[in-house]
Amino acid sequence: MSDASTGRYSRQIRYAPIGEAGQRRLRDSHVAIVGCGALGSAQAELLARAGVGHLTLIDRDEVEPSNLQRQALYTEADAAAHRPKSVAAREHLLQINSTIEIDAVVDDLLPENIAARLRAPGLILDGADNFETRYLINDFALARGLSWIYGAVAGAYGISFTIRAGQTACLQCLLGPAPPEAGETCDQTGVLAWAARWVAAQQVSEAVKLLLGADAALRPTVITADLWHNLSRELAPPPRRPDCPACQGHYVWLQGESHSQARALCGRNAVQIRAPGRTLDLAWLHRQLAACGRLQATPYLLKFWPRAQNAAPETIEFSIFPDGRAIIHGTSDPVLARRLYTQYLGM
Ligand SMILES: [Zn+2]
Repeated sequence: MSDASTGRYSRQIRYAPIGEAGQRRLRDSHVAIVGCGALGSAQAELLARAGVGHLTLIDRDEVEPSNLQRQALYTEADAAAHRPKSVAAREHLLQINSTIEIDAVVDDLLPENIAARLRAPGLILDGADNFETRYLINDFALARGLSWIYGAVAGAYGISFTIRAGQTACLQCLLGPAPPEAGETCDQTGVLAWAARWVAAQQVSEAVKLLLGADAALRPTVITADLWHNLSRELAPPPRRPDCPACQGHYVWLQGESHSQARALCGRNAVQIRAPGRTLDLAWLHRQLAACGRLQATPYLLKFWPRAQNAAPETIEFSIFPDGRAIIHGTSDPVLARRLYTQYLGM
């Protein structure tokens, strides 16, 4: 290693389990980060500073003012310029460490593009904001024999689990073949920046151990914490389930059979989002969304007008059906519609 890089990473190299050999391994590693929000931007900063030689950053959104409270790296100027998160993150990270390679991908991760988007990473970190993407990552990682590290945050609560293809339980073993019922999304419950950093720290710590082959140091448990109520737990994961589709090689999320579909509705300035296999309890959803805008229950669907905000046109209007389907009026942009669906209805 050059004197310059020995100096830059000296405090890390002095940590015996890493050392100079470990530092070289980090330099030769490639990590993909899916989602560059509160989790992904923090993971990216830690890994760039640690000297991981190649990062691929994937995110479909642009920086918004409401991101600045918790998302590492981004500035008011990024939000004012509507800069895509992965592009802004790359720019800032190269100012922190100009010696590494960073790919910025502005796209939704979908069954049809995941292989092209995740080209040969050694490891995938979950910074996603929805379970649909996580189930897709799970299928892809298992199919390729890759490890990935699940992480999620809501309010002051965080959770992480390290998934190793063929060795540990996978996300479907852990949560079942379909994503958990809507769940709380950060637009409903809020999210504390330091809870996200705590999750990102768990993920990055495990990531570096995996990259260095320090398998004995890996945490085999599911770790959770509530930083407001001072609670933390480590739970033994379930064994790999013999009836788990993904562990048996049936990759329904990767084949797109379970993935929601967004389709612009011709001439209506509306997009329909389908979510096969999902059901929604509209009464429950009505209560969950009460703080987010105006609602009207009808016998067959729930109408919802989110409060106007920077990213959403003021005319946005949802029609939400019990089968998980939603028509989002006021836009013909499937990417925006999908983002709004995730933001308010979870998944
Ligand atoms: Zn499984």
